[in-house]
Amino acid sequence: MTEQTAATRNVDDAELAKFADQAHKWWDKDSEFKPLHEINPLRLGFIDKHAHLAGKRVLDVGCGGGILSEAMAKSGASVTGLDLAEKSLKIAKLHGLESGVTVDYRCLAVEELAAAEPASFDVVTCMEMLEHVPNPTSVVAAVAQLAKPGGWVFFSTINRNPKAYLHAVVGAEYILGLLARGTHEYAKFIKPSELARMARNNGLEMIELKGMGYELIAKSYHLSDDATVNYLLASRKAAA
Ligand code: SAH
Repeated sequence: MTEQTAATRNVDDAELAKFADQAHKWWDKDSEFKPLHEINPLRLGFIDKHAHLAGKRVLDVGCGGGILSEAMAKSGASVTGLDLAEKSLKIAKLHGLESGVTVDYRCLAVEELAAAEPASFDVVTCMEMLEHVPNPTSVVAAVAQLAKPGGWVFFSTINRNPKAYLHAVVGAEYILGLLARGTHEYAKFIKPSELARMARNNGLEMIELKGMGYELIAKSYHLSDDATVNYLLASRKAAA
């Protein structure tokens, strides 16, 4: 548990528990974390295309078991992974020992790190996390603060509309069984326009928006221009 006051504590313990309870499965590619493994090369490619990871100082917010953190470290970045679920971080550290990929995992709120180490990362990623926190705006503000001037910030989350509900909740959790039931709560989904506004209000310029689609027949994911369900956003902090 981190030392946060009630006022700064931007975390839903039930949400953390959902992931922590499944922590032993983070690296099981046939578990409910399978979709994260499958989208990983797509998002890594998207991040690297913009930010050129090699040699960069990167922060991965809500890193879970380290699926993306490790991939970015393998691409040559020096990666810090942040999460508030100790159990997930334990699995991430153990996996790092096995794979030989070094990531600095920390159990700390992003708002706390922002206060302690502002403007210290070339790249900040915050993937599939905003839809699990009570106050996503506070996370966006912290992430923007943590990026260096000219630094890159990447988000991914789920859009909010009837099609997103059908695909991300009914389809993925109930019909296809890709995710555990109860993984996502519709009301917490975020429209790209809303995320872009939060980003802009915190000094981040939107650079590229991409959809991440699931192909039913091929059973695979791809990047597209259709951001109606899952999407990725690349943004950049103004240079000093
Ligand atoms: N970003 C990872 C994991 C996504 S799952 C990936 O895409 O592969 C969502 C993660 O967010 C979980 O690991 C959960 O513990 C974490 N999380 C939820 N609320 C959080 C908070 N307030 N601060 C930090 N991490 C949080």
